[in-house]
Amino acid sequence: MTDVRYGCEWLDRGLAFSPRGIHVCCVCHHGDRGWLPISDFSGGSIPVQRIREARTDYIRAINAGGLRDCQDCGLLEKKSWSAAPYLVQVVNLSHFTCCNLNCHYCYLQLEKKCTGWWNDPQSLAAGYRPIALYDTFHAMIHDGLLAPDGVINWGGGEPTLLEEFEELLGLLVSSGRWNYVATNGVRYSPALAAGLSDGHVAMVCSVDAGSAGTFKALKGRDFFDRVMSNLKAYAATGGNVQAKYIVTRMNANPDDALEFVRLSAETGVRGIICDVDAFDPEVTPAIRETIQTIRREGRLRGLQIQLSGSGVASYPEKVLD
Ligand code: SF4
Ligand code: SF4
Repeated sequence: MTDVRYGCEWLDRGLAFSPRGIHVCCVCHHGDRGWLPISDFSGGSIPVQRIREARTDYIRAINAGGLRDCQDCGLLEKKSWSAAPYLVQVVNLSHFTCCNLNCHYCYLQLEKKCTGWWNDPQSLAAGYRPIALYDTFHAMIHDGLLAPDGVINWGGGEPTLLEEFEELLGLLVSSGRWNYVATNGVRYSPALAAGLSDGHVAMVCSVDAGSAGTFKALKGRDFFDRVMSNLKAYAATGGNVQAKYIVTRMNANPDDALEFVRLSAETGVRGIICDVDAFDPEVTPAIRETIQTIRREGRLRGLQIQLSGSGVASYPEKVLD
């Protein structure tokens, strides 16, 4: 059965986990909108009926005149939507904020109105621990709620720091689900390497620098060499490994850009992704020049180049050409 209306993939078949709840999506790049809440959640089985009701209510509101949370979202479209065969097709894991780096641009380190709950001081002081999701996913798979070709986007925080990371990623890979893992590359994960080798994992590592000095200034820790070495080990699996450069005012310089591309090519990664700071509304001449350098040098070295991520979604493509 099809239905012509406004909708998006997340409203139709998505599920996002935050530190204390479940949401329709995790899109927050349009101001303080997005992150449509479904319910509180602290583990165990997902509330199937509540998910269905929330989706129905939000879709009804959008099509009855609009919903502020979804206003101007680029993912909203009017088309014919067929009934989803599974409750959940696409998942975002953003239920943890722990990290071993301190990136200057990271929204986890910033007080932003749309992400205020990330930094809740009481929770952090109380030794806050991320929700355990192994049993949740095991049940979703067992109960036929997660599509067999479902896609899991691992955000965070740094996912390899999760106590259950190896086990949970192993479960998802062995059950045939597709995983996109964003990791900072400081830790080497055997499960990640196995998933890359198996082909059910693609990973992106935001290096953001071409030198140890810039890396430390931007991320607060001296791990540049370790990250490049881990990238090389991951790329050696033959899997889809992407190196990323989020261009900000701090790392916008052609020297770092050239060295980043050279070293990335040396590690054997498949491609490079460029992005900009999601919370900086201005593309300075230096940022634009750095992006152009990375794209030009990357192509010369035969690397796939993508311009994507949360920041560039805010800019027309022509601004960055
Ligand atoms: S339209 Fe955008 S904000 Fe609304 S649910 Fe879909 S992805 Fe989220
Ligand atoms: S590695 Fe990722 S989660 Fe950690 S501080 Fe940097 S941007 Fe934030």
